[in-house]
Amino acid sequence: MENVLTIDLEEWYHANYEDNLFQPGQDYEERVIGNTNKMLDLFDRYQAKATFFTLGMIAEKYPELVRLIHKRGHEIASHGYGHQLIYNQSEQEFEEDLQKSIITIEKAIGQRPKGFRAPSWSVKHETPWVFSVLKRNGIEYDASIFPVKTFLYGIPDAPRMPFQMNFREGSMLEFPTSTVQLGSKNVPFSGGFYFRFLPYAVIRRMFRVLNKAGQPVIFYLHPREIDPHQPKLEKLSFRDHFIHYYQIGSCERKLEKLLREFRFTTVENYLFHSQKEFDVVWSLNESAVYRPAGAGGRTISG
Ligand SMILES: [Zn+2]
Repeated sequence: MENVLTIDLEEWYHANYEDNLFQPGQDYEERVIGNTNKMLDLFDRYQAKATFFTLGMIAEKYPELVRLIHKRGHEIASHGYGHQLIYNQSEQEFEEDLQKSIITIEKAIGQRPKGFRAPSWSVKHETPWVFSVLKRNGIEYDASIFPVKTFLYGIPDAPRMPFQMNFREGSMLEFPTSTVQLGSKNVPFSGGFYFRFLPYAVIRRMFRVLNKAGQPVIFYLHPREIDPHQPKLEKLSFRDHFIHYYQIGSCERKLEKLLREFRFTTVENYLFHSQKEFDVVWSLNESAVYRPAGAGGRTISG
């Protein structure tokens, strides 16, 4: 059973939490090249292939890195350009950001990305236009939905397995980040903080539960998560510091265990080579209203 491995290709400081924690124009220490190379070697060792949701800023600054990833058999998809929260953007701002990311990727590898993942999964019921924008810019699948409820992101009522997202102008294949269901709650496990936080035995069990049901696990990680020596972000709250750095030191070893035990491929391989069709069809509630911060609170809880 093949699972889907996804890497959000960005730097150690591309974090949003309540607000952007980085200044787009500022010079920060470069860590992404070394960390990504470490990942590529690890993936080669276990014949794993990954989809790299690549930030346009990274493709623009390090086109040779993106070319190298592509040459080594991985998929390059889009993670937007500047790592802005989509639910804080207008439709036009989002489209400009997306187009910039597509152009920088095309410049680096000579082809346009087929897939997209929103920075910090920042798609909501209140941003149904995201899918129309993706479609009219040639994007064929999306991986921006995390069917959980958190302070920053999540659409807890979205389907947990890959599905067909319907919207006014058509449809698109959606690869939600994997969860398992406990009672009426979706429990996240398949990447990032959740992967670092949970014991490996629990992660393994959840992979087996999904694979036994015939479902791939959609797993994600960031290059910074295998880098114990990265500079530290300032001004993080206690909670955000915990989420951002918990167990960074043992993450690479844990990832290696996972790669040894489970098979991984790209979204593109999974989708286009296996001719999968999804039975579940779903759409966002387009009548949902977004209440910006300060006007009765953010809609983070829905
Ligand atoms: Zn990201």
